[in-house]
Amino acid sequence: MPLTRRAIVMAARPQGLPRPADFAIVEQALPALEDGRFLIRHDWLGLPPAARLRMNAEASYTAPQAIGETMHGQAVGEVIASRHDGFPVGTPVLSVHSGWATHSVSTGASVHPIDPALAPPSVWLGALGSSGQTAWVGLVTIGALRAGDTVVVSSAAGAVGSMAAQIARLLGARVVGIAGGAEKCALAVADYGCVAAADHRSPDFAAELAAACGGGVDLYFDNVGGAVRDAVWPLMARDGRVVVCGLISEYNSGFVRGPEWYSLLTKRLTVRGFIMSDHPDQREAFVARVGGWYRDGLIRVREDVVDGLEQAPAAFIRMLQGGNRGKALVQLAPPSSG
Ligand code: NDP
Repeated sequence: MPLTRRAIVMAARPQGLPRPADFAIVEQALPALEDGRFLIRHDWLGLPPAARLRMNAEASYTAPQAIGETMHGQAVGEVIASRHDGFPVGTPVLSVHSGWATHSVSTGASVHPIDPALAPPSVWLGALGSSGQTAWVGLVTIGALRAGDTVVVSSAAGAVGSMAAQIARLLGARVVGIAGGAEKCALAVADYGCVAAADHRSPDFAAELAAACGGGVDLYFDNVGGAVRDAVWPLMARDGRVVVCGLISEYNSGFVRGPEWYSLLTKRLTVRGFIMSDHPDQREAFVARVGGWYRDGLIRVREDVVDGLEQAPAAFIRMLQGGNRGKALVQLAPPSSG
């Protein structure tokens, strides 16, 4: 059993977009393996936008991260030493609070066995992991999606957005995507089932979006906030629902005021934010339904992979600027390396 692990910590609190110097790679001692604990070798790490929120001095939906603390994120890997009957050596697992590190020691809290026969390990971090489950909870539980709805999804070529677009389409909605650039808009239509996609960087964005939304937006799945949300807002239909999943356009620049409230009244709108981890009861239904679609070849998965822990900060910074295509991931070791 290794005695140490490598990890990426926050070396300085970023002002605006993080810089490479805001991160450091360190060697950390692993705790002794007491009874009821097991050691996971991480093979893949997910790079979540919410890790940027935790780097701020102010609390978000979690406490702020301290300087020197390991960066937040999930991992999939394998149990390589165990004193826990429920997690024997060789168990493939998803660890929700592992952090950006090569290994972690766990009691089993927030660690879930995964089924590599259904999907490769990395997919349990994205399409069949937190990204897909976020899309599911946002559309079904929070947004009360109905067949026939016109649904708009922002960051539609991203990890959560691509799943939200596909799930909404498979549940019978008419989906319009929003993405940055022509290439991502083309992906949203060709791969993720959108009937149209509008480029939020285009000078014609508002007009293109309005043309694609026809009679109005029944459900807006908002991943980005800011100017994109403000462009969707006047297009909301009567009884429309706005699902606030994320505000990534504001994570580096600071949070901005929302749009006017008068429409809430006149259009009888509902605006509701959510945090996926508050809905663990949805996991079984999500894996059953979306896992079934995945098995049947109905879900397209795109991953943005870099190799090696030391690449994590650059890949994270790139993702925050829109450089990723699909779930931002770090591959640490081939599963056979032990
Ligand atoms: P993505 O894979 O979507 O990657 C981030 C994308 O955000 C970029 O590729 C870029 O896409 C877009 N983006 C960045 N800056 C801007 C901007 N200024 N304006 C518009 N778009 C921008 O990330 P995830 O799918 O992992 O996360 C998407 C959102 O979901 C985030 O806000 C995240 O915090 C949230 N989230 C919420 C959860 C919850 O429980 N509520 C759980 C998980 C994620 P483009 O190039 O198209 O602009």
